[in-house]
Amino acid sequence: MKFIINTCVHNHEQYSSNFELQLRSPLLKEPRLSLKFDDLTAYPPFINSHDHLVGNWHPRAGNNNPYETTDVWVEEMKHSAPFKERNKIWLNDEKFELTKGNAPLLTHLGMYKNIFSGCVVVQDHGPNQVEAYYDSFEINVIRNYRQCHSLSLGNWWGGKSAEEELKAAGGKEPFIIHLAEGTDATARDSFRKFAEKGLLKANTLIIHGIALQDDEIKKCAEAGTSICCCPESNHFLIGKTIDVDACLKYGVNFVLGTDSTLSGSVNLLEEIKAFKNYYPKISMQKIFSFFTSNAQKALMIDPQYGHLNSATENLLLIKTKAQDPYENLIEADMPDIQFLMYRGKPIYGSTEFLDLFKINAEDYYFFTSNNEAKFVIGHPEKIMEKIDSILGYHKTLPYLPFQC
Ligand SMILES: [Zn+2]
Repeated sequence: MKFIINTCVHNHEQYSSNFELQLRSPLLKEPRLSLKFDDLTAYPPFINSHDHLVGNWHPRAGNNNPYETTDVWVEEMKHSAPFKERNKIWLNDEKFELTKGNAPLLTHLGMYKNIFSGCVVVQDHGPNQVEAYYDSFEINVIRNYRQCHSLSLGNWWGGKSAEEELKAAGGKEPFIIHLAEGTDATARDSFRKFAEKGLLKANTLIIHGIALQDDEIKKCAEAGTSICCCPESNHFLIGKTIDVDACLKYGVNFVLGTDSTLSGSVNLLEEIKAFKNYYPKISMQKIFSFFTSNAQKALMIDPQYGHLNSATENLLLIKTKAQDPYENLIEADMPDIQFLMYRGKPIYGSTEFLDLFKINAEDYYFFTSNNEAKFVIGHPEKIMEKIDSILGYHKTLPYLPFQC
């Protein structure tokens, strides 16, 4: 099937009118049909480089922000009302086994947070899980990685030491770690320790790095280490982000993530807007690479992600509100997503798109958003029903674009 789109981001460099997209999906009813859309912009689906799927509860936890270091917040969070409410659904079993108990209710809500903001790839930072965990999602929650929580707190949630985890990655998988998430002496000294332990590698992905100094950022660039910024989480917890200008000056492979909603904003669309607001001089074209091609590189995943090919099984269509496809993303909200396809399967969008596919309607949830008929894969409304029954009252989450 061909979609003729008036604007798109193709190979990150160009956009043109009447761009022809060949949809690759075995589920299409009429593969030879050609449809033209004048009011939609096409993108590669987005990549969220940092989230904690099990932690996407709301509202944010912590009343004494900004903190000098997130280590203080982590302890305070554990006694906060949102965290205690979340724990009524699932209390960390100390082994952090996310396939056990009610954890899947929460991790799948986290998946929906990402789906409703156009992401088909997400890095779920936590201890490596059994294969069944990654198989349970409708999008790519990446399974090939090694990690440590942080240097200051170690792998309290599971996993080996940072050095052992890096070794296990063997240079072939990303090694992911929160680093320098604060402004105090420990945060400021963390890069030195990090480098001394030999953790600065081309497959390392540093999360946050707020306290990193100019020369330390330069060393990251030289080592090929990637850095992930979660703008709203950083501003909420610490009051600032890493020196982004230095990252770009030295050519660091820079990416964006959301963090969980216990500290971050609603979703990636909101983080994109926030980042542009904090750094208005950085072009949207540049920012776009932070959650597409740069993220593909940082997470060491197949290059089919983060790039829109003219024949594709992964696709994101968003309403055109601004003619420049990059600027259009500043205007984009959850209801503006008209179609999200992953591996040839319709994931989220307007029902007019779902009608083009041979699907089983029972596999989808149908709802109205901004007076439009929408669909999403699976049944988030049933997850919310279960959560309401556990809590004994109705819970709303801001990243779900429907009321139930
Ligand atoms: Zn995090």
